[in-house]
Amino acid sequence: MGPTITLDGATLRANVATFAALGAPVAAVVKSDGYGWGARRLARELDGVVESYVVADDEELAALRPATNKPIRLLADAPPGRLEAVLALRGIPNVSSRESLAEASAVAARRDGLTVRIGIVDATGWSAISPRDAAEFAAAVAGTGLRVELWTHVTSAPRSPAILSDFAAAREAFVAAGVPLAGIDVASTASASAATAYDRLRIGAGLFGARLGNELALRCALRVTAPVVRVLAPGEQAWAGYGERAIATHETCVVLRCGYGDGFPKGLAGRGNILAVGMQYTTRVITDGSSPCLFIGADDDVDALAAQAGISPHELVVGLARS
Ligand SMILES: *Cc1c(COP(=O)(O)O)cnc(C)c1O
Repeated sequence: MGPTITLDGATLRANVATFAALGAPVAAVVKSDGYGWGARRLARELDGVVESYVVADDEELAALRPATNKPIRLLADAPPGRLEAVLALRGIPNVSSRESLAEASAVAARRDGLTVRIGIVDATGWSAISPRDAAEFAAAVAGTGLRVELWTHVTSAPRSPAILSDFAAAREAFVAAGVPLAGIDVASTASASAATAYDRLRIGAGLFGARLGNELALRCALRVTAPVVRVLAPGEQAWAGYGERAIATHETCVVLRCGYGDGFPKGLAGRGNILAVGMQYTTRVITDGSSPCLFIGADDDVDALAAQAGISPHELVVGLARS
């Protein structure tokens, strides 16, 4: 029998409440199939407490729609010719090129208006326009019948002030051009605060308890427990596995059926009471008071665990979803 790796729904919902207390509702970011855990499964847990969802593209929209009636926002533009399909699934489309703008404008003219999302990010990897092009793009949007949800993404903490001031300038350009703004969202887990809340917070990793440096009191929604396959008496063995650390003669160790093949980070070998992490088995020292079977639970700090393992909190969340 392998480890039990689960998500705690009540903790997911409590984390949503912690973000919402900053002053805006939460749009749950469930791209990459819900950070590996299943977008529909997350929707089953979260539908009562989130305002909307954010997915990567039209395929993820189609996969998620059967599980929710809430708004679903798209990060990427609809592929050419696919805008009507996105709208039929009640997706809120993104527009970041002149081609998508032309298609959206045509639909807006037919339909008596349309709400689209336009992102302002000076970084590759997002379907957004550069702050330099904002005024020109705003002029092209004006008068098309499009209403705009303006967004940006704080891609790094040190660049946060620059990104937010670029965004403020772009917003002024859209207002000056007379484009009706339907809403604003700028913050993800790392940048969520009362000052960045605006109309909604786009939260992904934070749902699982990752803080990404934020000081919010989130709880870890990940649970990992593993069955004991062997208890080693003190002195019975000298090495834990592949030589990560010697076992002291007075230490009692257990071998558990959980390893990096299950998504448990190999980098945790040699940290705390974990001596060795193999593909399927982990050796740990029994310490007083803690259950030898519990690896990750409500009291863990996702950021600290990831740091110990030498990976990012996002990788920890996605890696454990593998099982
Ligand atoms: C992935 C993503 C998010 C969510 O980020 P987390 O750090 O997981 O909260 C928010 N906004 C955009 C644009 C994203 O791509």
